[in-house]
Amino acid sequence: MAQIIDGKAVSAAIKEQVRDEIARDNIKAGLAVVIVGNDPASRVYVNNKKKACEFCGIKSFEYALPEETTMEQLLELIDTLNADKNVNGILVQLPLPKQLDEKAVIERISPKKDVDAFHETNVGKIMIGNYSFLPCTPAGCMELIHSTGVSVAGKECVVIGRSNIVGKPMAMLLLHENGTVIVCHSKTKNLAEVCRRADILVAAVGKPNFVTADMVKEGAVVIDVGINRLENGKLCGDVKFDEVSEKASFITPVPGGVGPMTIATLMKNTLTAAKIQKNEQ
Ligand code: NAD
Repeated sequence: MAQIIDGKAVSAAIKEQVRDEIARDNIKAGLAVVIVGNDPASRVYVNNKKKACEFCGIKSFEYALPEETTMEQLLELIDTLNADKNVNGILVQLPLPKQLDEKAVIERISPKKDVDAFHETNVGKIMIGNYSFLPCTPAGCMELIHSTGVSVAGKECVVIGRSNIVGKPMAMLLLHENGTVIVCHSKTKNLAEVCRRADILVAAVGKPNFVTADMVKEGAVVIDVGINRLENGKLCGDVKFDEVSEKASFITPVPGGVGPMTIATLMKNTLTAAKIQKNEQ
């Protein structure tokens, strides 16, 4: 039976470190969160980010824009936030309504304030291992892996999913720690067979209960990034928890696994941004 990796506890420890450093060094840090439209899931995420800011002593600035916001209006707001010295980090909650070009919006955010690490400058820096910020969800997954005491070096790591936000950067972070990494996606052949090679298996697919026990090696570390809402309103991950936890050595639950880590890393990135910007003044 697997040990459950407690994302709530690990994330709480990170937020406490951020809070303590901010208080100790009297750092002024500010995070602007921009939300466009009325997506209920986005609303929940934004509220959680606000609460985490309050806990850490980071000032949060929320901009809730209407669904029909134009590109011009959104870019104007980003320019204002880029120039605002009280704002160290800018986060635009995705997905955006259809009329808005997400790529252009991300590229408009100053790379120094891009605490999500989605800007192509930051993506490039991560690729070569010379970065200030790591993308929040993959960095959170790495912290959870570290919390198990299992070293990534030399391990076979399989990531299911190749999105720019999760799968690709996750693979890169595992590679930076000397894992032997395979990235699987919707066109991968013999997926179960490939997954069974994994000492460390990361699922970022977005399909409930997609990873079943027959896809998992005995003793694997299983990280479930998926957040799927079932018809009964309950949240579930990409991993069939009950059966996979019988086989894995460590496993993250959903909720309470990767989710809280994403927010904790965001707090850490905002503090890093504030420190870098302070040094540049
Ligand atoms: P995405 O839809 O952009 O990517 C999904 C990936 O899964 C794709 O690369 C696709 O190739 C792959 N895929 C789809 N069907 C497959 C199949 N049959 N076999 C193998 N691969 C397949 O999603 P995303 O943004 O990467 O998010 C993935 C999941 O993680 C979602 O459930 C999302 O809600 C969740 N998520 C959670 C957090 C968090 O904080 N915990 C953050 C971001 C995303």
